[in-house]
Amino acid sequence: MDPIEQRRLLRTEIPGPRSVALQAERTQHLAAGLGVTLPVFVDRADGGVILDVDGNQLIDLASGIAVTSVGAAHPEVSRRVAEQVERFTHTCFLVTEYDGFVQVAAALNRLTPGDHEKRTALFTTGAEAVENAVKIARTYTGRPAVVVLGHAYHGRTNLTMAMTAKNVPYKQGFGPFAPEVYRVPSPYPYRWPGGAEAAAEEAFAQLAEIVTTQIGAGNVAAIVAEPIQGEGGFIVPPPGYLAKVAAFAREHGIVFVADEIQTGFARTGAMFACEHEGVVPDLVTTAKALAAGMPLSAVTGRAEIMDAVAPGGLGGTYAGNPVACAAALAALEVIESEGLVERARQIEALARPRLETLLGADSVVGEVRGRGAMLAMEFVRPGTTDPAPEVAKAVAAQCHREGVVALVCGTFGNVIRLLPPLVISDELLDDALGVIERAVKEAS
Ligand SMILES: *Cc1c(COP(=O)(O)O)cnc(C)c1O
Repeated sequence: MDPIEQRRLLRTEIPGPRSVALQAERTQHLAAGLGVTLPVFVDRADGGVILDVDGNQLIDLASGIAVTSVGAAHPEVSRRVAEQVERFTHTCFLVTEYDGFVQVAAALNRLTPGDHEKRTALFTTGAEAVENAVKIARTYTGRPAVVVLGHAYHGRTNLTMAMTAKNVPYKQGFGPFAPEVYRVPSPYPYRWPGGAEAAAEEAFAQLAEIVTTQIGAGNVAAIVAEPIQGEGGFIVPPPGYLAKVAAFAREHGIVFVADEIQTGFARTGAMFACEHEGVVPDLVTTAKALAAGMPLSAVTGRAEIMDAVAPGGLGGTYAGNPVACAAALAALEVIESEGLVERARQIEALARPRLETLLGADSVVGEVRGRGAMLAMEFVRPGTTDPAPEVAKAVAAQCHREGVVALVCGTFGNVIRLLPPLVISDELLDDALGVIERAVKEAS
């Protein structure tokens, strides 16, 4: 197939007539609980472009939520996936084994932070990786409690719903939730009552106080944190906070789990976001960009912790599916051979200054933040820090009309996030930033 031309092109309104017809059919057949950001149906996608069924070429600033970092049809990924599908699609690794699974584990043991002895277990979804990290930490420590942060997002299964902070739409009506999950404040610099400067110190003091006086450190199996909070609003913790939490966990025999599902694999301008702070977690959960869109997730960490669970205690029918493993091996090679860690930094260097020109005392943009190709703007009522979700919504809607796929996030729904594929061209990124700039000015 010819590569998709890497430029924005609008042939119809967005969504176009074919998408509208397919959407009507969707509504007839699908459960209403399945939401959608932009009701456009896709024909092909690759690089920084999504080609829809009406022939429109949209600029992709979502990467299917930080998944297709190497593009949605990278030739190397497609080739290796096709090859694997011809050999076999599935045996179940728990029944008979295949080498791709072992090679992905070896790659994750090599790439994740720290040079200690590591082991990996593969699963299918991000939520499943988080659940298994908790299972492993509980077995290793013999303790029940799990500590999570405000604004956290860890998934939609029962345990991970309990660990996720935001009620609507993730939790409303879905309880009762799993017990023994405790929440401590997130050190959200922009919104920290004592100011950004005090956030690391004060938030850590609150975590330590809650763990020691309310839960009892001896009851805590794991502290689970996203090194940059994703769905919660691309919240970058203040410098030093994660290191303090990791040291506190070590001191109290608590397993420190970094949920790198959204931040992992070059996205933030480092292979893993923990590296920006020199933090070495005990366990790391990964998924999303790991296999370039094929469903695959992992828990990687200290051998003595990972090996605490007896044979048979971990697994799943599809866990570490061979086609997904083939995709992961290709994606990891592409990330390294195409220098995508460096590319994420270039994307930040191009995009951040453009977004920052929108800041100002009477601007609706309260803050520009993030790292690498994980950047966001938080919208507020001018002159205040009051969240302005209607502005985020209007900016996203305008971007969509103009053919730029932008996502909203944040506990208050007032954040626009940029998650372009790392292989996006400078020209496409530049065009998309122009659309965003105009949309923000219009919404102001
Ligand atoms: C997306 C995400 C998850 C859940 O992954 P799924 O594959 O949707 O289950 C967990 N944690 C973080 C940080 C995420 O961004």
